[in-house]
Amino acid sequence: MIAEVIIDIAHSDVDKIFDYACDENIEAGMRVVVPFARSAATGFVMRLKEKSDVPPEKLKKIYRAEEDYPALNRECLSLAGKLAARYRCPMALVLRLFLPTEMRTGKVGEAKRTFARLAEEPFTIDPRAKKQLALAEFLRENGKADTVFLRERFGSALKALTDKKIVLLEKERVLRDPYRGISGERADHTLTPAQREAVKKIGETDRTVCLLHGVTGSGKTEVYLDLIAKQLAAGRTAIFLVPEISLTPQMLSQLRARFGPSAAILHSGLSAGERFDEWRRLREGDARIAIGARSAIFAPVENIGVIVIDEEHDGSYSSESSPRYNTFDIALLRAQYNRCKLVLGSATPSVETYKRAKDGEFELIRMPDRINRRALPEVEIVDMRREVRRGNPSPFSIVLREKLKNCLDGGNQAILFLNRRGYSQTVMCRDCGYVAKCEHCDVSLTYHSEEDCLKCHYCGTKYHLLRGCPNCGGVHLGYVGTGTQRVVGELKKLFPAARILRMDNDTTSGKEGHYKILKQFAERQADVLVGTQMVAKGHDFPSVTLVGILDADMSLHFPDYRSGERTFQLVTQVAGRSGRAEEKGEVVLQTYDPENFILRFAAKYDYEGFYEHEIAMRAGTAFPPFAKIVRVMVVGEDEKEALEALKTVYRQLEALYARMSDKFLFFNKMHSPIKRIRNKFRYQTLMRLTDGAPLREIYEICAAADYKKTLVYVEENPSNLS
Ligand code: ADP
Ligand code: ZN
Repeated sequence: MIAEVIIDIAHSDVDKIFDYACDENIEAGMRVVVPFARSAATGFVMRLKEKSDVPPEKLKKIYRAEEDYPALNRECLSLAGKLAARYRCPMALVLRLFLPTEMRTGKVGEAKRTFARLAEEPFTIDPRAKKQLALAEFLRENGKADTVFLRERFGSALKALTDKKIVLLEKERVLRDPYRGISGERADHTLTPAQREAVKKIGETDRTVCLLHGVTGSGKTEVYLDLIAKQLAAGRTAIFLVPEISLTPQMLSQLRARFGPSAAILHSGLSAGERFDEWRRLREGDARIAIGARSAIFAPVENIGVIVIDEEHDGSYSSESSPRYNTFDIALLRAQYNRCKLVLGSATPSVETYKRAKDGEFELIRMPDRINRRALPEVEIVDMRREVRRGNPSPFSIVLREKLKNCLDGGNQAILFLNRRGYSQTVMCRDCGYVAKCEHCDVSLTYHSEEDCLKCHYCGTKYHLLRGCPNCGGVHLGYVGTGTQRVVGELKKLFPAARILRMDNDTTSGKEGHYKILKQFAERQADVLVGTQMVAKGHDFPSVTLVGILDADMSLHFPDYRSGERTFQLVTQVAGRSGRAEEKGEVVLQTYDPENFILRFAAKYDYEGFYEHEIAMRAGTAFPPFAKIVRVMVVGEDEKEALEALKTVYRQLEALYARMSDKFLFFNKMHSPIKRIRNKFRYQTLMRLTDGAPLREIYEICAAADYKKTLVYVEENPSNLS
């Protein structure tokens, strides 16, 4: 037989099929070791065939298979081909996505233990060797036993008997159990009529993609679990994607209780060995639901019955390393291959997804009410400019302080949220809340210290620094900053008896950082949780009756065309943590911009209103989904080489632009806003493209730019233009 092999080296020079002769035991999808370039390399068998064009005397032979099973199934192989073409990257790089990294690097394999047993043949043992007799007796009674144990109990007798072939050793695979200490009570709910209706609609529609738009606390999770359970019962499998942060202890135990060992839960708390074992269980079909963050979309399950992407709007679904894939694209390909449904769920769908649903491409299913018709918490907008004028410099408005007191006196819990994304770069007037924006793009300007000016990250236009506020003439321009640490400090002064937990990037490092904090808070070991973006996600804490959003408008000024959308999502999500059980919830939203449309819509939970406003603006300024933003990055340590790469790539892009300028709304090259990150030279070409633009050619130009120390890559609608 002949095997077509892709060498596991991510370089365009070797990114092609190599033929090798092989034995019967080789199958498509296996990892193999082959002779390559005067040494050996690992590769993937893509296909088997009868004949090769390579003359037989030149055809080399596969040395051996790495594993005795194909690591990649048929679907993975076909999907990998499509992805390599779509993102123009070496096949090896794509194939790696389907395997646990630990497997490729050889750092981990199956955990094996060595067992000893008696040989079948008759034997005699010297009657004076008491230990050896005892050992043989023990094995006769117990069958096989772990050698670690035997060595401890019988010492050198084990070796003596193995040498004489009276005792035989064999290795056996054991599974590491990642769920130690997680136990859950099974809380089976009877579906509400709204949930039942949602399940029914998803089952009946002809469309592949369904968008479940349900307010926070509407019971979306129960809908997903019901869909998954039905598919399992029908003998199929499922993939359930959630943002990493949602894999809270509560969520894990709920899933364990419901699905037991048929669920493989891949989260960041797993060790390399545990992750590998979970992957193996899925590959072998012992586990039939893959639950995890973005990368779980590559789970080795077959015959998929449903794919769920919860919190579909979440930024973590875009990959930030090559290939820069979008999880949705891959989920859609897998759903089409398996002829199953792809269910997207969110209380605040991304504008792009919602548009596709409204245009009829996706089935739109609404769940507008919370479970048991519980009210969504009331949001009170507080004008922080007035607090400044009143002489209250603290991060807490008077209203928030009072409500906090009531909440704590009543024995309830509170969450205080700080909206900290990229905000020290934007200049704001503290008297009126004015923020400088680009005249062309309606995106906040960013302060650049090297050039001492304000700049738009989308079109590169430079603006002079402001001396006074153009809106109110005030002179208190600057950055308004409060960190979580300061908030905790102030809080301790105001409420000395309160137990406070802090959750931000500083406190959540380490394997189980956020996990531990959320667990403590859920177990009511604290009264107040102070945190950044991380506290906003889908947590369900029944005792939380107050949410304070300390600086709601800060994310509005992030220089990103999606900053309005992001702010709406954040405010809605974080507000949704309040009042999820019997007691009514409240939300205090503090802002320097109380008239802001986005905040007003968010305070009323008016997604439709927000959407109409936002989509009109995107249409007016030609931003996604009406155009595609494409950024080509050139990044390298060696400035000379990077400049050469830049010149070559830019010249070709320019030629493309000259040829098809009607497809380009915008084309410009510039220093990337952050010129140097960790001493690397960074240059970008930014484009805004209409439908039918030559995306493929752009990828090809970049893929062809092959330099030693310079990276050239393409990003589509990047979420961060720094
Ligand atoms: P969402 O994901 O839409 O924000 P959840 O799925 O977290 O909402 O559900 C909110 C709360 O309602 C949870 O505490 C959940 O246990 C509860 N719940 C969900 N479905 C039902 C049901 N059918 N009957 C009773 N309680 C339910
Ligand atoms: Zn601009």
